[in-house]
Amino acid sequence: MRVGVPKEIKNHEYRVGLTPDSVHEMVAHGHEVAIETNAGVGIGAADAEYQAAGAKVLATAKDVFDWAEMIVKVKEPQAVERAMLRPDHILFTYLHLAPDADQTADLVKSGATCIAYETVVDAKGGLPLLVPMSQVAGRLSVIAGAKSLEKANGGSGVLVGGVPGVAPAKVVVIGGGVVGSHAIEMALGLGADVTVLDRNNQVLAGLSQTFGPALKTVYSTKSALAKLVLEADMVIGAVLVAGAAAPKLVSADLVKRMKPGSVLVDVAIDQGGCFETSKATTHSDPTYIIDEVVHYCVANMPGAVPRTSTYALNNATLPFALALAGKGAEKALLDNAHFLPGLNVYKGQVTCEAVAANLGYTY
Ligand code: NAD
Repeated sequence: MRVGVPKEIKNHEYRVGLTPDSVHEMVAHGHEVAIETNAGVGIGAADAEYQAAGAKVLATAKDVFDWAEMIVKVKEPQAVERAMLRPDHILFTYLHLAPDADQTADLVKSGATCIAYETVVDAKGGLPLLVPMSQVAGRLSVIAGAKSLEKANGGSGVLVGGVPGVAPAKVVVIGGGVVGSHAIEMALGLGADVTVLDRNNQVLAGLSQTFGPALKTVYSTKSALAKLVLEADMVIGAVLVAGAAAPKLVSADLVKRMKPGSVLVDVAIDQGGCFETSKATTHSDPTYIIDEVVHYCVANMPGAVPRTSTYALNNATLPFALALAGKGAEKALLDNAHFLPGLNVYKGQVTCEAVAANLGYTY
């Protein structure tokens, strides 16, 4: 199959659909790959590296779309990209269609086969193509929080790991899923005093087994959470209630009573945030202060480390991309019950129930 990779054009998006290693793998499986010139510069992969892996380099996105049978991207196609889609195209990328009526209408009109990373599932009902980004965000959250604790950034001036003779920071992680467990690993690695809250006892048991007595695990109730938040130097919000906005677990009143210079990192901000005082921020201006508490609420945290994020994403997406290229979309999707939910739009029909329900399409 002819696989095309355009350069991402969404503002400040530096990731790329295929790494040079993935291109090499595609080519080894007998496929052809074309990449738009400079598509990989944001991850430090020059055109020459892609050529060495077997890709050809094309001058424009239009050249890529015209040539390819399958388009592999990272972010949802922008309007100018959607206009280049044809009925015989397979599109494989993050789509997030439910809140995006314009994009959905364009994809329906295009007639293309559009498969979304975020609705592919695994045997346990998890979302394997979202996991790598949660891993990245979880690990970054502690780094962002540690930086925010520095005095010059409005923090209390506490070093996360302390030093011999001086106590480390108290880090509280709310939600012990993918983001939370990766935040815990980083925070423990830095020497912090770490407590995790979750309302799922199995999650707490698993974390306890993984991290041992270094990690304190607490069942998440309103009063346990309030007590821990008031003692914390850093609170990381990492909850998810599937299909719903994040619950507001820390009220504005609780924030007011937190220690001056303490830090809230709201990773769940992409679902509306789990602190009442959270509002989405950007990498260019990531923090703000309310009631002497520093808030870090960047909605696309993995964008800060596009190289790691792209490689992590490719590790998860490549087997699916290879299946699409090898078998064609219909067979690849029908052969794999976990891949099939990824199909969001097919030949002018919305095929994802949640998207159809949200935007009023027949399903
Ligand atoms: P996950 O499903 O793996 O984990 C969520 C955890 O929250 C679960 O263990 C669940 O039991 C727990 N939880 C739910 N309600 C709770 C409550 N009231 N109290 C305590 N725990 C509760 O989800 P994840 O992949 O770790 O994602 C967490 C959040 O991070 C999501 O909102 C996700 O969208 C977001 N995220 C944000 C970014 C970003 O760039 N900001 C990147 C990746 C993920």
